[in-house]
Amino acid sequence: MSLSAERIAALRDYVPRERNLTIGGRAVEPAGERWDVYNPATEEVLATVGGATTEQVDEAIRAARAAFGTWSAMSGEERCAAMNSLADLLEERWEELLASIVNEVGTPVSLAEFLQVKMGIGHLRWFAEAAKKDRTVHLGPYDVPVPTKSDVDHYPVGVVAAITGYNYPLNLAGFKYGAALAAGCTVVLLPSPRTPLTTLLLGELVRESNLPDGVINVVTGGADIGQYLSSHPGVDKVSFTGSDAVGAKIMAQAATNLNDVVLELGGKSANIVLPGCDVESFSVDMHLRWSRNAGQGCAALARLLVHEDLYDRFLESGAEAFNQMKVGDPWDPATNIGPLIRPDHRDRVNGFITEALEQGGKALLQVDTPLPEKGWYVNPVLLGNLPHSARAVQEEIFGPVAVVLPFKDTDEAIRLANDTAYGLAANVWAPDLAEGRRVAEQLRAGTVWINGGGAMRPDAPFGGSGRSGVGRELGEWGIREFLEPRHIQWAV
Ligand code: NAD
Repeated sequence: MSLSAERIAALRDYVPRERNLTIGGRAVEPAGERWDVYNPATEEVLATVGGATTEQVDEAIRAARAAFGTWSAMSGEERCAAMNSLADLLEERWEELLASIVNEVGTPVSLAEFLQVKMGIGHLRWFAEAAKKDRTVHLGPYDVPVPTKSDVDHYPVGVVAAITGYNYPLNLAGFKYGAALAAGCTVVLLPSPRTPLTTLLLGELVRESNLPDGVINVVTGGADIGQYLSSHPGVDKVSFTGSDAVGAKIMAQAATNLNDVVLELGGKSANIVLPGCDVESFSVDMHLRWSRNAGQGCAALARLLVHEDLYDRFLESGAEAFNQMKVGDPWDPATNIGPLIRPDHRDRVNGFITEALEQGGKALLQVDTPLPEKGWYVNPVLLGNLPHSARAVQEEIFGPVAVVLPFKDTDEAIRLANDTAYGLAANVWAPDLAEGRRVAEQLRAGTVWINGGGAMRPDAPFGGSGRSGVGRELGEWGIREFLEPRHIQWAV
């Protein structure tokens, strides 16, 4: 996969044609409220989309319920083949998917290609393979009160409501429906109203695929439709990716039916530079990573904790990284920082910067090239001279803003790293792997990277604790969220 300059020129204006919901394998015209979807790099209206009505959500849940019997009864091999037929279509139509993501999210093309399209397809194929796995556990003899033997097998929970945030539409949806389908569940998918176009296109591919009708349904809508879907008695489990504030509401809404939830929420992930590190060797990589997708990533490692002896070298080498940050047109392959999703979000991010500076914080490193005239951009900045209690240090900013704090010894670094309400991810830069692991094992985070890496693997769990969420996505852990264990015992 790689795009020539001609293809980029052709895709720059691409907007998916698909505006229909996908319900029970059919294209259904949305009959609810309509709204505009913007290109955050140009501020132009990309498309006007319609939302589902509550009746259409009912219909989608009924379709998912009807399909559940068929889908859950199919063999793992059959489900794998059907899921791979969708992966084949994603591969065939990857350019459209990519263009849709770049135009509606503003993700730079090079990032969108690898982090959304390539990873999205790879993850779906992994889940397809995992659908074939026999997860039955055979227990040994047990004699109380009479001799017995037992197996523990699993049954799928049923209909899953999958609600996603705006920042990585293809991935976030794929984590949910991939795992749910592998488990034998069916899905009603609700994308963010700010970036629904990629998911509507996905719905079109679902209809063309060999998935039985109703296995994946796509509806659209805002918070009211999200609320209706997540509290619907026809749903068996809610899987949500988004902010912690909405996550708390989802948990309460799902509780009306005593439904379980998977919540993938925000973070304020620590990026620790231990004493003895060769700072210059990773500085560029480190800064380009926390700022990618303009910082609109749940696992952005934007709370930098640096040993005091390395602090000056850290800032000097960081200047080189900031020189390499190119803010602007997401279609320019050299761009690594695109726009923020909407002007209100840009203003919120700028508000964090202003408040930190007013509180005595300093912009230690920043990009100060002029911003494009159009588009909701913020120049990346590294803030310092702030107490660990400052809002910019404690809260998720979701923009190209990082904070740096010096620490005196490794115990202090661990204490600071764990001192937020979140627990999603962390990174440790260590002089050697043994020291990196020693620190990693003391961090409250669902993922810890040591000396780089930074990848989410389909076979490893992703998620967090505290305000970062409940449960895990990806890997066996992600699939088990959609399975219930069943103890079968027989007398011998
Ligand atoms: P958001 O919470 O504002 O919205 C997410 C979705 O929830 C949208 O589809 C929205 O329409 C819907 N929604 C809003 N109110 C609802 C309600 N009462 N009931 C049901 N649904 C409702 O999040 P966002 O701004 O789209 O995404 C950014 C957030 O997502 C960040 O906090 C980020 O960290 C988080 N995120 C987490 C992960 C992860 O895997 N942990 C991944 C990506 C993003």
